Amino acid sequence: MTDIAFEISGLTKTYGSGAATVRALRGVDLTLPSGEIVVLLGPSGSGKSTLLNIAGGLDRATSGEVLFQGQSLTTMSDRELTRYRRDHVGFVFQFYNLMPSLTAHENVELVTEIARDPMDPGEALDLVGLGERTDHFPAQLSGGEQQRVAIARAIAKQPTVLFCDEPTGALDSHTGRSVLRVLSDINKKLGTTILIVTHAAAQAEMADRVIRFADGDVSEVELNDTPLSPEEIVW
Ligand code: ADP
Repeated sequence: MTDIAFEISGLTKTYGSGAATVRALRGVDLTLPSGEIVVLLGPSGSGKSTLLNIAGGLDRATSGEVLFQGQSLTTMSDRELTRYRRDHVGFVFQFYNLMPSLTAHENVELVTEIARDPMDPGEALDLVGLGERTDHFPAQLSGGEQQRVAIARAIAKQPTVLFCDEPTGALDSHTGRSVLRVLSDINKKLGTTILIVTHAAAQAEMADRVIRFADGDVSEVELNDTPLSPEEIVW
C-alpha cells in the first residue's frame, strides 16, 4: 500500500467578514500519496497558495481537516504546528528570500543550525549543483543560482515535504528548467514529496499528479504515468 502524505477533507478557508468575505477554499477533498511530484494549476485567486500554506502549517483552515501522515494538522496547537514545520516542511517561494549579507553556505547554515537531523550545508549545496559557489553572496549569483540556494536551504533539514510556490515565476524558461531539474533530482534521490504551484501549465508534464483548481476547489485530478523530464518541457 502506498503511504499517504496528505488526506484533506472538506477544507475551507474564509478571509475577512461581511461584505468583504473571500471564500478562498470551498470544501477541498484531496489525497496525496508520499513521494510524488504534484503540480497545482489554476487561475490566479483560485486558492492554490492558500491550500499550500495550510498544508505547510503557515496558515490555519476555517473548517475541514488536513491529515499529514495520519496526524491532524487542523487540531494542532501553535507549538505542535511549529514543530511540524520545523521537522517536516521546506518552503521555496518565487522570490528567494536569501539574507544578502550571508554567503550561500551561511544562508543554508541558518537552517541546519536549528534542524533536528540536517545534512551538511555543503552537501545540500552540492545537491543543487552549487558546490563550487558556497562562498558567494546572493548578489554575486544569478537568479537561478539564488533560487537553487533557496532550495538547498529548504532541503538541508531533510523535509518530508517540499512546498514550492511559483518557484520559476521570476526566471526565464531556460533557468527555470534548471530549477525544475534540481527539484526532480531531490524527489528521486531523497524521496521528498514535492508540491509545486505554477502558472506555467507546461510544467504539469513533469508531475506524477496534476491538480487543477477553480474557484476555491479542485476541478480535476490527473495522473501522469510517464512524466517528462524538465529538459523536455517547453514554456
Ligand atoms: P492562488 O494561489 O490560486 O492565486 P490564493 O490562494 O492566493 O490563490 O488566493 C485565493 C483567494 O483568497 C483570492 O481571492 C485572494 O485574494 C484571497 N486571499 C488570499 N490570502 C488572503 C489574505 N491573507 N487575506 C484576504 N484574502 C486573501
